[in-house]
Amino acid sequence: MMGPRQEAQSALFYEFCLEDHVPADHLLRSIDRFVDLSDVRRHLASSYSSTGRPSVDPELMIRMLLVGYCMGIRSERRLCEEVHLNLAYRWFCRLDLVDPVPDHSTFSKNRHGRFRDSDLLRHVFETVVARCITEGLVSGQRLAVDASLIAADTNRQNSSSQSEWELDKINPEDAPRAVREYLETLDEAAFGAATPVQPKFTSHSDPASQWTAARKGPAYFAYSANYMIDTDHAVILDVEATRSVRQAELGAMQTMLDRTNDTFDIHPERMIADTAYGTGPLLEWLVQERGIAPHIPVVDKSGRTDGTFERADFAYDDENDLYVCPGGKELKQSRRIFTTPRTPKADKYGILRYRARKTDCDGCQLKSRCCPKEPQRKVTRSIYEPSRDVARKIAQTVDYAISCKLRKKVEMLFAHLKRILGLGRLRLRGPCGVRDEFHLAATAQNLRKLAKLIPIQSLAHQVG
Ligand code: SF4
Repeated sequence: MMGPRQEAQSALFYEFCLEDHVPADHLLRSIDRFVDLSDVRRHLASSYSSTGRPSVDPELMIRMLLVGYCMGIRSERRLCEEVHLNLAYRWFCRLDLVDPVPDHSTFSKNRHGRFRDSDLLRHVFETVVARCITEGLVSGQRLAVDASLIAADTNRQNSSSQSEWELDKINPEDAPRAVREYLETLDEAAFGAATPVQPKFTSHSDPASQWTAARKGPAYFAYSANYMIDTDHAVILDVEATRSVRQAELGAMQTMLDRTNDTFDIHPERMIADTAYGTGPLLEWLVQERGIAPHIPVVDKSGRTDGTFERADFAYDDENDLYVCPGGKELKQSRRIFTTPRTPKADKYGILRYRARKTDCDGCQLKSRCCPKEPQRKVTRSIYEPSRDVARKIAQTVDYAISCKLRKKVEMLFAHLKRILGLGRLRLRGPCGVRDEFHLAATAQNLRKLAKLIPIQSLAHQVG
């Protein structure tokens, strides 16, 4: 029998419970168990006036932002529409069926004001990391670090070349917010002061972004998202936004490691990273100053392709500070004898030079395989060589082979960030906007991780 035609009839009274309409296995229901924003209001208390019109609840705004980043909704305008229409989003945001959804402009006003002044998004991120630690997802022993390029919200057409870019002519009073932030961060190691080398192009709308072709493809403007994770369950322990240059990314690793030590009292046994992090000064800092085992490939350019002896063919005598060549002769930094012994100095790159005697090389049968075009052989040694040797020794171990596999976990997080959360291109401009986006994205990734690894039943069991 055919049923009656379905027609919309407005009832006078509804009996409707939002709670009943959100599926038990919905992602937001799982995530909700780990969102604790109880002290957001206290954190922001000093930013609000005691008089005037009541504001939109800051906890509601954070919940809406979390919905956006967890579900890959990038536009705040669209987020407001989705929260208005989606029952599960309303439930997560603690909005009833008839409660109004804040206007999208509320987000930008709060972001540029209270949220940034009180560093609220950092606070929310750290709260979620603390929860991951409480739930036993972090041992803090094996950390991994990496950086990934995220395209900035700007393009080549709106930029100036190196010779055309005139920093002195920018008037901070007239400049847009992203340009003012660029001027304010010129002396910061993560941005302007990372390198004295001027980029080939500078964007007018977001000058702090870096013109880069690091992926060996067409160049574009980008920022670097730096993640430091605990490799047990790939929980993001810290996140940092920097310019996309090597120096800034290395500095970010040091900043994140120290901050994690201070905030969560985490002292790792090993640090895992790729070759980009295998520079002498960074290995020295890890080994000598922090006592951390570097599971990092060493940057070594001493290899030769012309078949002549490499530095590895020369044996270093630590006791006498000299090299012994394959012909059995000594290479020293200096052969002069001073009344007061002098310590040879390294050059500005930290490189020491050891030379063989010309008379030894002149009569040597191996000269054609050693230094065919030079009168005598010279071997260089970094002042960081002891720490580089520590890293080389670690690279021979089974643990290092395991670390190489664990390193992929950071790359997978970046892939997830771009493909699932849709953060292939930034929406906000300027260092502060980028920082906000990375903090929210990392918070969302950690929350999704908690939801996935701790099923609802297991938590109910713990509580019971
Ligand atoms: S050429 Fe000089 S440095 Fe090279 S093996 Fe012969 S003696 Fe040693």
